[in-house]
Amino acid sequence: MKRIIPFLIGIFWLGLAQAEFWPEAALNESVPSLEAVVGHDHGEKISSPAQLDAYIRALASAAPDRTRLVQYATSWEGRPLSYLVISSEANIARLDTIKAGMQQLADPRNLDSSAASLLVRTLPAVVWLSYGVHGNEISSGDAALVLARHLLASGNPMFQRILEDAIVVIDPAQNPDGRARFVHHYEQHQGIEPAPSSIAAERREAWPNGRTNHYLFDMNRDWFALTQPETQGRIAALLEYYPLVHVDVHEMSTDSTYYFPPAAMPFNPHITDSQKSGLDTVGKVIANTFDRFGFDYFTREVFDALYPGYGDSWPAFHGSLGMTFEMASARGLAGARSDGTVLTYKDGVHRQFVATVGTLNGTVENRRALLNNFLEFRRTAAEDRRVYGFALDRNDPALVHQLAGKLTAQGVEVSVAAEQVRICNEAMPAGSVLVAAAQPAGRLVRTLLDEESPMAEAFLEEQERRRAKGLEVELYDILGWSFPALYGLEVTSCDGTIRGAIDSWQGTPAQTLPNESSLAWLVPWDSRASAEFLTKALRRDVVLHTSTNSFTQANREYPDGTLIIKVRENREDILETLQTLAAETGAEVIATNSSWSDKGSNFGSSNVRRVRPPKIALAWDEPTNSNSTGAMRHVIERQLGYPVTPVRTSDLGRPALDGFDVLILPNGGNYGDALGESGTERLERWVSEGGTLIGVAGAVRYLSATDMLPTKRERAVVETAESDEQEDSAMIEGTIIADQDQYESAIEPLKAAPDRIPGVLMRAAVDPDHWLGAGTRGTVNFMVTGRDVYDPLDLDEGTNVARFESADELLAGGHLWEENRQQWAFKPAVMVRSVGRGQVIGLVGDPAFRGYMNGLDVLTVNAVFRGPAYTNRSFAY
Ligand SMILES: [Zn+2]
Repeated sequence: MKRIIPFLIGIFWLGLAQAEFWPEAALNESVPSLEAVVGHDHGEKISSPAQLDAYIRALASAAPDRTRLVQYATSWEGRPLSYLVISSEANIARLDTIKAGMQQLADPRNLDSSAASLLVRTLPAVVWLSYGVHGNEISSGDAALVLARHLLASGNPMFQRILEDAIVVIDPAQNPDGRARFVHHYEQHQGIEPAPSSIAAERREAWPNGRTNHYLFDMNRDWFALTQPETQGRIAALLEYYPLVHVDVHEMSTDSTYYFPPAAMPFNPHITDSQKSGLDTVGKVIANTFDRFGFDYFTREVFDALYPGYGDSWPAFHGSLGMTFEMASARGLAGARSDGTVLTYKDGVHRQFVATVGTLNGTVENRRALLNNFLEFRRTAAEDRRVYGFALDRNDPALVHQLAGKLTAQGVEVSVAAEQVRICNEAMPAGSVLVAAAQPAGRLVRTLLDEESPMAEAFLEEQERRRAKGLEVELYDILGWSFPALYGLEVTSCDGTIRGAIDSWQGTPAQTLPNESSLAWLVPWDSRASAEFLTKALRRDVVLHTSTNSFTQANREYPDGTLIIKVRENREDILETLQTLAAETGAEVIATNSSWSDKGSNFGSSNVRRVRPPKIALAWDEPTNSNSTGAMRHVIERQLGYPVTPVRTSDLGRPALDGFDVLILPNGGNYGDALGESGTERLERWVSEGGTLIGVAGAVRYLSATDMLPTKRERAVVETAESDEQEDSAMIEGTIIADQDQYESAIEPLKAAPDRIPGVLMRAAVDPDHWLGAGTRGTVNFMVTGRDVYDPLDLDEGTNVARFESADELLAGGHLWEENRQQWAFKPAVMVRSVGRGQVIGLVGDPAFRGYMNGLDVLTVNAVFRGPAYTNRSFAY
């Protein structure tokens, strides 16, 4: 397009030879160009994940002595995730020794000072560059190729020095499925030249866009949670090297410029001063490099370092310098900015490349200081005295061991009590899981296991000031993520020591397998393992029942919800199936030869209900929130092992919905508009004919606006009693405003919504008498985001199966504004209402949030799998 050319920001570089990205680079032709391998040059096209992969493979074969290519994971859609190590021939030859050296430095407990200083003198700096965790942040992947090529093809002394003093690890595509989704979309919409308009279809992705992976996870939130195979593989790879610097390369809006560290407040309190000054030091070198090219940039204004699930924060808790880079995105080959200029794809590729060259120079120049800082970080972390204990008898053992597994997988040492031990003056029985922060990964332990990683007081005061003025608060993500709270675990914790014999944790203990029975088996409904047993048993066509009420057999009480599997209703090989399921899930399966109960129901009671394998539909596409939708699908399919059918919202009004027993509306925007009046009527009819409709978070707003859930959202509580009656008159009574406080009250909006909550963990008490609360241990934690607080259902309208705790007991993790804390207390968290032969369930917090709210899995399984047993649906079986 002719009109664009004069506005091209990167025009100076257009049409020049390869060295255009670094004028003095002088690239050697023995290393293949991108064009020779995939057919286009750097920045000319948006390389697909397959092309990124093909090029790093070509580089690895062209320079085998200076590279090592490692595949570290496979995406859900089967794409390889690989990193390419680039260094001097001598360094690559001793790469395993270098890795071993970093392992030694990472554990100073076994390192004397002369060995440590020898390592600091001789080890190169490992710099790990991760690109494109968000698949539609495109320029990063191609910039990775430019860097790899320059490192291998340029004889320039600067690049040579980097190879001698650094191990450069390049991961060009952390999220190949998301990038493939973007590139496919882009190619589908391309014409004869790029369309830079902000509304051009090629630059406007359809739901769910390429940011996320196959299950629509934002993998830049998954680093500590490790729910996705891409993250799991990456963490394992990083722990082999302990890089000194980890850079996560992103893109942001087209109108912005370039962002690199130092980061914005709030900082996580476990990030050290020497890390902050390290970021300043390297940041200044990047800035100098940008100034050389005249590229605009900014630092410190956004992108905080509080939440531990980012690619910049998680490595920092292991002692790395963690950085985020953000380039303005062309979101295509050309993007119009609001000032009339056009940003090209190549502009982005170039800046991303320059930023990483600056990083490498900054690291190499400060190699010894950074190695010393890393050593000091690991040494001082081990001085922490915090201890944590998880007793199995006070917790869900399956979740305790799941936590132990997650911590171990991210480089944390976890122990098990070999006998009864004491911590914090409490006895912990043998088998309890124990974690001491006194280890080199101690700071990671603290931020993952403490209830809160507090923000600085001064920062919070500034946010209160902003709130009072109605300004947006400067918080970028959720504020509560404590693992015990996510899993709903009771933790014993203090500064102290573990007294008694311990072993290191070796994995979840093997489950005792069920014996033969002539009548039935029982699965006590009391843990996540039993919930997973139910879903997997249904998938294998096991016929089973759930007892609404508890009962006692042979002096053991079987809680509400306990599963009953009868011999005569099942296939001949049922014992084998149950043994497999018990081993796979860890559920307790107990043989019984009698239906006689000493107390409570017998197996033939009407309180004992058949649980059938439900057909589950999940609303898909606009207006659902893609993260919430994907996470729900992931929890049911990949964590509980049961298939889900995604159904486009626009198809929910079709007759085929009758083929489903359960419909989940995930968190989302305006369902009312999306479904229209007729769609809503159709949905109500489906429910009244026996369907179980489950609305999550934003979908509760929709249900509450229909007849389906008779609750209303609340406005903010306003303290000042300004009279509404005066609104009709043109004038109001005169008032005196005497001070700043009164002035602030006077300008407070009367009908405002409550303040938005960025994301905190709130405790809720569960009604022990309702089938939906069975197996939940009385209290659960929800992740609450947004501003939708509801009025509790009246007794004749439905049941508030879970309600948030009192203001004093409410917060289970994170920071909550005082007004929110007061208003959310005692408000409903889970509501149920019978509608005709079916039912509507409203979940105010998202039980699948980021796939890591595993303390809510029993509740989810109650709603989705046991729920249909409590409708009067006529099953078509
Ligand atoms: Zn991003």
